[in-house]
Amino acid sequence: MSEKESFLTALAVPAVRGLTPYEPGKPIEELQRELGLDDIVKLASNESPVGVSPRARAAIEALLPELTRYPDGGGYLLKHRLAELHDVEPARITLGNGSNELLTLLARAYLDPARDSVFSQYAFIAHALAVHGVGAVARVAEALPADAEQPLGHDLDAMAALVGDRTRLVYIANPNNPTGTWLEAEALGGFIENLPESAIAIVDEAYHHFADVPGYASCLPLVGKHRNLIVTRTFSKAYGLAGLRVGYMISHPDISKIINGLRDPFNVNSVALAAALAVLDDSDYLQRAVEINASGLEQLRSGLGRLQLAVPRSAGNFVLADTGADAAPLYRKLLERGVIARPVANYGLPRHLRISIGTADENDRLLQALEAVYAGPGDDPGND
Ligand SMILES: *Cc1c(COP(=O)(O)O)cnc(C)c1O
Repeated sequence: MSEKESFLTALAVPAVRGLTPYEPGKPIEELQRELGLDDIVKLASNESPVGVSPRARAAIEALLPELTRYPDGGGYLLKHRLAELHDVEPARITLGNGSNELLTLLARAYLDPARDSVFSQYAFIAHALAVHGVGAVARVAEALPADAEQPLGHDLDAMAALVGDRTRLVYIANPNNPTGTWLEAEALGGFIENLPESAIAIVDEAYHHFADVPGYASCLPLVGKHRNLIVTRTFSKAYGLAGLRVGYMISHPDISKIINGLRDPFNVNSVALAAALAVLDDSDYLQRAVEINASGLEQLRSGLGRLQLAVPRSAGNFVLADTGADAAPLYRKLLERGVIARPVANYGLPRHLRISIGTADENDRLLQALEAVYAGPGDDPGND
């Protein structure tokens, strides 16, 4: 503890004293306030460009008169609908205020300063935040190199080598954010098979619906086979409900029981429960989301390629572009043109920008703005 540390900071438990808040993508309203722009395109938070599902909207509106009441703390209807969808017992489903809450609750449940967690360098940052938040030991596996088939992706061998007696949680994002990389089903299945049972694998499948890529498969069918496997999913991405905060996990019922004891009694609000239930029945919406993403991904990859910003194949609703130089000046120049991308220096990737896939028009706006301000790899646009 440094002597400069304030009294109140020093009163906090050690694990949380040095924490810094998660840095979200810049909100549209904030850029409007700062630059007085009104036509802003945000491609910074992997949000759905499709708009809210009409069925979800109707369910939200129908729910409004009920807002004097507490939500169903057990989330009965949504849990049973998800159980049916995934063909598992409802006792295996646990709902969260976003899947992020579940990642954090799992850390609180299974980690402490005497236990450790394994995850990959460049893994989704919420995994590291969850581990650090409880003061557990983070064992970070070096990522695959930038010229690998899955550039900067998870190296399962390196991860397996870090799993020890005190390892309780192994966080795996498949596909991963911000790299867009994915793990092949066979390799991931083998990794899980070989884990000691005292190490629980959490496979974060936030981008599952977009992952139309060779070798990818969900780990859901394996949950019944391995009691030390958890799969998390979210309504924030393909289902387009990021603002409502709802996600879920599928696990052994004993893990559900622990997390249900630990969570806040009404962690998922009633509007979110109703909207999530409704969007599950809107297969047109999901299909449209997936199609718009696939064509937008093509559009961005070819457009970025023309600007010498070749991006690797992505299994998500975003791409990760290596700009060849410090990306911060380019990020600011895009902001001036009303385009919000996502710097990822906080991931240890200061030269990269993560760009979410938008509508065809939004993608065009991004490409036009880039064309105006990006001078090519290695050319730092801040120095002109
Ligand atoms: C966006 C994202 C999530 C979703 O978080 P929510 O809390 O459900 O909104 C989870 N995992 C990864 C890897 C993500 O990128």
